[in-house]
Amino acid sequence: MIALERARQHLLALGLKDAAQALDAHLERAAKREVPYVDFLADLLEAELAVRRRRYLDTRTKLARLPFRKTLDDFDFDAQPSVDRRQVRELATLQFLAHAENVILLGPPGVGKTHVAVALGLAAIDRGYAVYFTPMHRLVEDLRNAYEEHRLDRRMRIYLAPRLLIIDELGYLPLDRVGATVFFQLVAARYERGSIILTSNHTFADWGQVFGDPVIATAILDRLLHHSHVINIRGESYRLREKRRAGIFRNVESKQEL
Ligand code: ADP
Ligand code: MG
Repeated sequence: MIALERARQHLLALGLKDAAQALDAHLERAAKREVPYVDFLADLLEAELAVRRRRYLDTRTKLARLPFRKTLDDFDFDAQPSVDRRQVRELATLQFLAHAENVILLGPPGVGKTHVAVALGLAAIDRGYAVYFTPMHRLVEDLRNAYEEHRLDRRMRIYLAPRLLIIDELGYLPLDRVGATVFFQLVAARYERGSIILTSNHTFADWGQVFGDPVIATAILDRLLHHSHVINIRGESYRLREKRRAGIFRNVESKQEL
């Protein structure tokens, strides 16, 4: 067997599929530019690593079940002056994950709470952390079913395992006693162990109503807020703002047509 074919077979046998595939192109380039042997080897291995990393991140992103993929670069801070961009950039360094601190995003609908939560989630995935996103109502329904079927502990592990758990839209529906209790158990179990990013359009004062019980609400808040970063987003919905702008532009255009 010629050396090239042997090399390819060995790469495949070692599981370096992408390097095997890229071998010809790398050899040709190396020959043309008279690249030193060691540079050729490093380049070939880096090509393999880059493909692996992308595949790994893709898998992690799918597992995280994010509702969309938007980053902080996609976030228009000028449109949202109530958001302290320094605080958000600081959070994007992910120090809060290292310290198992929480992030609470509060504000009316459409102001970018989920966007910021997802962006921080993507940053965490990029740094190799396991992330899981769930709407609050789905989380509670899931844990409640598990509780009723006497398998709460096992089911809870899904929400305890990821380094970052994103819980979206707390307070969308009020919770009953079982719902509030299983949620408390989750928050207590993650306390000082793993970060939660939580979004809600309710202020903390409403949480007694959301959980149907001020005692449980206080116990939950106590743990969530102890090590936390709270971001209050005010202002109008970004979606409505865009619609309104589109409307203004349409008006201008129709006037010009007259
Ligand atoms: P919320 O979770 O607060 O209801 P979202 O994060 O879902 O709001 O934002 C609604 C839509 O508007 C999303 O598509 C989001 O990407 C976009 N959006 C909101 N705020 C901004 C912003 N400041 N810059 C860019 N896009 C934004
Ligand atoms: Mg949202």
